[in-house]
Amino acid sequence: MNFRFILFLSVLFVICSCTGPIKKEIPVLELNYPDNLHVVRRTEWGWKPLKRAMPEHEIRKITIHHGGVDYPKGKDPAEHIRQLQDWSRSAKGWIDIPYHFMIDTAGIIYEARPINYPGDTNTDYDPRGHALICLMGNYENATVNKDQLQSIIELTAYLVQRFNVPLYSIKGHKDYTETLCPGKNLYQYIENGTIQARVQDLLPK
Ligand SMILES: [Zn+2]
Repeated sequence: MNFRFILFLSVLFVICSCTGPIKKEIPVLELNYPDNLHVVRRTEWGWKPLKRAMPEHEIRKITIHHGGVDYPKGKDPAEHIRQLQDWSRSAKGWIDIPYHFMIDTAGIIYEARPINYPGDTNTDYDPRGHALICLMGNYENATVNKDQLQSIIELTAYLVQRFNVPLYSIKGHKDYTETLCPGKNLYQYIENGTIQARVQDLLPK
């Protein structure tokens, strides 16, 4: 081994130990909402970036959920979502919040898990291919107000167009498995076709 080669190896070693393993960027699909659809972006509520990824999916369905627990009166929704993110990662070991969108009691829509990754569930359906919308609160007990219903419809209409989802693939969690989710007071609007019909009204003719 000549001196030059040893020098070359030493330089290579220094470079490698300085840069460490090359970090791969985790891809996040960012959506461009129309001006008339207000969505609170992840960056606006203090989302912590993904630490790891999972296999991506293509959206083919839209599935509506509820939180399943009564929403604490007066609680800051952004705080609620931040806590849900921490719980999802630490207690459940999921990459993020199990849903792609959260809607609060005033009907404000928040981005949650990046939509290019399938959601997670405590039940036994396969969430791959589903865009998941969750209404905060328990709609076995609470009633859905006008603003919440309007937000579900407007967000769903956007997702239908963005991902070419057929109207018959707008469903509730309980259409896929044994659960009360999204609660009877919300499910009635899926079951009687109100949401699907009002989404259709918003689509370009
Ligand atoms: Zn659900």
